[in-house]
Amino acid sequence: MHTEDAYAELGLPPGASDAELKTAWRRLVARWHPDRNRRPDASARMQRINLAYMAIRQAREALSGDDHPSAPPSTRAAAPAGKRRRPGAESARPRAAAGGHTHADHHAHAHAAADSAQSEAGHRTVRRKLRLSLEEAALGCTRTVSGRVTLRCTACTGRGWLALDGACADCDGQGAVRRASLFGWLATSESCAACGGEGRARQACVPCGKRGRRTVAYRRAVRLPPGVRAGDVLTAPGGVHDSTELELELQLEIEPHALFKLEADGTLRCDMPVNGFAWVGERWVEVPTLTGLQSMRLQREHRSYRLRGQGFPTQRRGPRGDLLIEILPCFPDEPTATQQALLDRLIDETAEHPTEPLADWQRRVRRWTPCNTAASA
Ligand SMILES: [Zn+2]
Ligand SMILES: [Zn+2]
Repeated sequence: MHTEDAYAELGLPPGASDAELKTAWRRLVARWHPDRNRRPDASARMQRINLAYMAIRQAREALSGDDHPSAPPSTRAAAPAGKRRRPGAESARPRAAAGGHTHADHHAHAHAAADSAQSEAGHRTVRRKLRLSLEEAALGCTRTVSGRVTLRCTACTGRGWLALDGACADCDGQGAVRRASLFGWLATSESCAACGGEGRARQACVPCGKRGRRTVAYRRAVRLPPGVRAGDVLTAPGGVHDSTELELELQLEIEPHALFKLEADGTLRCDMPVNGFAWVGERWVEVPTLTGLQSMRLQREHRSYRLRGQGFPTQRRGPRGDLLIEILPCFPDEPTATQQALLDRLIDETAEHPTEPLADWQRRVRRWTPCNTAASA
């Protein structure tokens, strides 16, 4: 179908917005869907409406470049499963599911069978889970989401056949065929199989092979913004397939991380054991961040360190928060002979050059005269 004809079919000017397109299409579907409209031409009209809608959508997608990642999907907080939401509805703020990131959902995989909800003709929401690493969730990423979905055939609106003009040839438009009995004089009448008893000519639907359903493959690059949390639900357009517009509804999961722990308030923590002597010696150590290792100087006075801007975004699309590193200085439980010898040397060396509080203490002890009551008795 030419796009000019397609616009005319939907009663729209060629400059109509996507929202106007969708509204016009929904209005026409509500009016002409054969489930609701009993007129004999409803099925044919419905096909033309869908073809027009598909032609315009495909023309627009071709213009915008379908290979590129879609626009950032609208985001919203997790809602109870099965609750229908208006397409495009956005929540003001996403929130983390309670404890969502602290549990490993071993049963869920990105390619697990997706739960799909049929809503209205021509629009289909595909619900599925998407697992992200903590790094992907923190920094944002583009993920390719692909799968297969079975749709009601739009060519035949799920019937498996198309109505033709004219009467059924098998029953001469009667809807019933006479079947002669064995002895010739008794005849029975039964519903005509060729037209389903309706008397109108039918033609098998070729695109769906008379099944009324078609399985289509979808594959979309979805851009995820930085700062998404486990339990967040994102929606992204899934493209138009067999004139059905797919909407991907992605429920996010975040894999547990080997080094970091994301707390509910968005704080990113890392508990890091360090060599106790390196800590005492205020040495530089390598600490992990979401983007790689970086050097940090240990301070004897501190066990907690805050790396500004190296954490998880505390608000969606906002700047990254801080990474809190809590060090655990480790000393040998059973020092080796070499370690013992080195410790002895260190202690002796320190005794020869005592620092001020220690030297003062030793002076005060030397000046002190204990009262030895046992000796004077
Ligand atoms: Zn079909
Ligand atoms: Zn018939």
